Amino acid sequence: MTDYADRATVRQLVKEMKPEYIVCRGKRQHDLQPENLVWNDVYKFRTATEVCSRCGLRMITEMTEDWTVLARWPEKYPEGYLLTGVGRIAGDAFNEIRGAYYQQVWKQKRMAKSEATASPPRRAATREALGINAEPEPAPSERPLRLVRSAAPRRARKAG
Ligand SMILES: [Zn+2]
Repeated sequence: MTDYADRATVRQLVKEMKPEYIVCRGKRQHDLQPENLVWNDVYKFRTATEVCSRCGLRMITEMTEDWTVLARWPEKYPEGYLLTGVGRIAGDAFNEIRGAYYQQVWKQKRMAKSEATASPPRRAATREALGINAEPEPAPSERPLRLVRSAAPRRARKAG
C-alpha cells in the first residue's frame, strides 16, 4: 500500500524547496536540453542523455535504431527535489506545490512588468503638459453670469 503525503507536511517542506525545483514540480515538466546521444553498435540501441536547465535532473532515454523508446528514467534527482520520506505527493498535498509554483511565477511576472514600466516616465499625459490648470473649478455660485444664446425656435416651413 502506498503511503500518501500529508498536506500540512508538504506545505512546510515547500517553503525550503529551491524555486527552480518548485517550477519543475509545479509544471510537472522539465526543461530538458540535449547533452549526449550514443549509439551502441554491439547491442544496437541508442542512449540519449538530457539535462534539465532549471533543476539539473538528468534524464536517460534508451531507444532502438528506429527511435522506439525502450526505457526512460531519471538518472538522479537533484538533492532536495523529491521531498523523500513524506510519502507520495498527490491530490491535496500536491496542491501545495502547485500553489507555490503559481505564486512564485506570477510574482516574478509582476516584478518584470513593473520594471518595464518604471522608465522612461510618461510625460505626455501630465497636467502641465496638457496645460490643465490644477486649481479647482469655482463653485457654481461664484461663476460670473454669462449670457447664453439659446437657439431660436424653429418655424414651421411654409408649404411652397
Ligand atoms: Zn527540472
